[in-house]
Amino acid sequence: MSARRPLMAGNWKMYKTPAQTAEFFEKFLPLVAESSHADVLICPPFLNLTAAAGAAAGSKVAVGAQNCHWETKEGAFTGEVSAPMLKAAGCAAVIIGHSERRQFFGETDATVLKRTQAALASGLLPVVCVGERLEERESGRTGDVLRAQFTDGIAPLEAAGFAKIVIAYEPVWAIGTGKVATPEMAAEAHRSLRALVEARYGKEAAAAVRILYGGSVKPDNVKGLMAQVEIDGTLVGGASLDPVGFASIVNF
Ligand code: PEP
Repeated sequence: MSARRPLMAGNWKMYKTPAQTAEFFEKFLPLVAESSHADVLICPPFLNLTAAAGAAAGSKVAVGAQNCHWETKEGAFTGEVSAPMLKAAGCAAVIIGHSERRQFFGETDATVLKRTQAALASGLLPVVCVGERLEERESGRTGDVLRAQFTDGIAPLEAAGFAKIVIAYEPVWAIGTGKVATPEMAAEAHRSLRALVEARYGKEAAAAVRILYGGSVKPDNVKGLMAQVEIDGTLVGGASLDPVGFASIVNF
């Protein structure tokens, strides 16, 4: 059994209004009130963070954002939201480098690193996403892709900063497609990430870092994934929108 405490996180992407956010929490909180085996995190769109943080106050459920700007000082950055603003709005965490941001919004390993540093400097838990695309897996390049994303996006962090991040392995071909990686496939990728961590930060850091799996996690496949000692939790997109379904994932 691993000593790492599971983290069950939901990424709402661009779904739900503030009113729908309040409705979700009303149904969800009682369903996870007794769930002491895992940390629980919900990441709604920016607009809903205040509603989410208000609804979650006093519960064990933490609220996070889906991105933050790398500039921590306020300034002329139209359309952006800073990590200190997220913190002030009640966020505990922020997803960084999600594949949809890499694919549609020009996110690179260099910007992932800068955003992660800003999140750390602001006292947020960065959930840093990595993962290969289908053609990369099919051409046998999964290991190379993970190595490059780790080397350029994460490994420049100092050890003290690294100790405060969570890594999410999200194979791009499994996100929103219904194609879940088998527990063994996910565990293999997690092992290779942990080996990269060990080479850079040492054995203790590798044993301590939480690596989540994300990609079409559902109530009916979460148990098999969480049975893998390498998998320290899940980052859930579509299935985190339904309070009953996400609660059953949390309570795997
Ligand atoms: C995600 O958005 O991080 C994700 C894994 O999505 P889904 O669960 O819908 O595949």
